[in-house]
Amino acid sequence: MPPTLESEEHKALRSAVAALGKRHGRTFDREQLWSEAAKLGYLGVNLPEAYGGGGGGIAELSIVLEELGAAGCPLLMMIVSPAICGTVIARFGTEEQKREWLPGLADGTRTMAFGITEPDAGSNSHRIMTTARKDGADWVLNGRKVFISGVDIADATLIVGRTEDARTGRLKPCLFIVPRDVEGFQRRRIDMELQAPEKQFELTLDDVRLPADALVGDEDAGLLQLFAGLNPERIMTAAFAIGMGRYALARAVEYARDRTVWKTPIGAHQAIAHPLAQAHIDLELARLMMQKAAYLYDAGDDVGAGEAANMAKYAAGEACVKAVDQAVHTLGGNGLTREFGLASLITAARVSRIAPVSREMILNYVSHQTLGLPKSY
Ligand SMILES: Cc1cc2nc3c(=O)[nH]c(=O)nc-3n(C[C@H](O)[C@H](O)[C@H](O)COP(=O)(O)OP(=O)(O)OC[C@H]3O[C@@H](n4cnc5c(N)ncnc54)[C@H](O)[C@@H]3O)c2cc1C
Repeated sequence: MPPTLESEEHKALRSAVAALGKRHGRTFDREQLWSEAAKLGYLGVNLPEAYGGGGGGIAELSIVLEELGAAGCPLLMMIVSPAICGTVIARFGTEEQKREWLPGLADGTRTMAFGITEPDAGSNSHRIMTTARKDGADWVLNGRKVFISGVDIADATLIVGRTEDARTGRLKPCLFIVPRDVEGFQRRRIDMELQAPEKQFELTLDDVRLPADALVGDEDAGLLQLFAGLNPERIMTAAFAIGMGRYALARAVEYARDRTVWKTPIGAHQAIAHPLAQAHIDLELARLMMQKAAYLYDAGDDVGAGEAANMAKYAAGEACVKAVDQAVHTLGGNGLTREFGLASLITAARVSRIAPVSREMILNYVSHQTLGLPKSY
């Protein structure tokens, strides 16, 4: 790790984004904030300078998302568009794909969603069945996806499909850029109990015909390319969760300082103060692991980053759920009013425990990969 955890540049970025977030607050207009953040260079801070980005890494991008979340206005599509799709295209795309997509992803004028989850595969992504078959120079895709965020506002979706290996006949993962309105690509909005500007969709790919250059990178290096995108996704989900947890905790602390029902403010009672202190400690610890994961990833250590990103996502998801729960409790009845806006975070916080990889799948990963324990499945 670097001698100081956060450089002066990082601190300056953090406070500038926090100021932007403060101007928008909890009832933000996503489009307005997206374009303002983009103009200030925050959305493409991780993308290469040669293609209009800021030349930084996931460390910088996670600071942006965490601070927007801490101000109550997280931008979910940052996890997907610049972090997963931008990274995969920057690392593995052809020169044309980089020129076509990266400047727009960096300046926020274009957005890309990401679709891997399937109804019959769920956490077991080895079972995904969206297949891509060659037809002359074209690719033809068929399959279904579920819970894919922001497909309606994205210009395209990076779809994880499978192609047949010519030598072994086995299916291997491959990534395709699927434009929003291409024929045969249909979406149905899922009615989620989530109060968020970004929506989730079930997708159907019915003989979707794509040109040869829709395939990102190398047909034979699909898995490697996929993991290059999944580690930033986990780090950014950690940032999302830490930001939300900080937001909820700050509201609870403000309230506990003032609200007096006996002789002293409720924050003087340890039954209220200690769980808030614990929530703060858990969020700080999760951030430390997130910083480690981002540092390793940006330093090019994909393997080390993989373990750290999983642990960071786990720790942040748990810290967020606990912080939100304790914040709601601290406000008593007000915790459940719309006016104070915390109750809806109970559902929102759970997302970071489930997606993009569930708490149990991370515990499985650490059990098998880190501790070398046998597998049950
Ligand atoms: C708001 C939201 C946004 C999303 N956005 C996207 C997106 O943009 N793109 C995308 O591709 N996906 C997206 N997802 C999907 C998300 O990644 C999946 O929901 C997640 O991977 C879990 O898959 P599942 O829902 O099928 O659950 P399942 O895989 O069915 O799991 C159900 C439960 O069983 C547990 N479980 C499963 N297997 C095991 C095991 N071996 N050991 C122990 N426990 C196990 C899980 O931990 C979980 O608790 C989103 C989901 C949500 C909720």
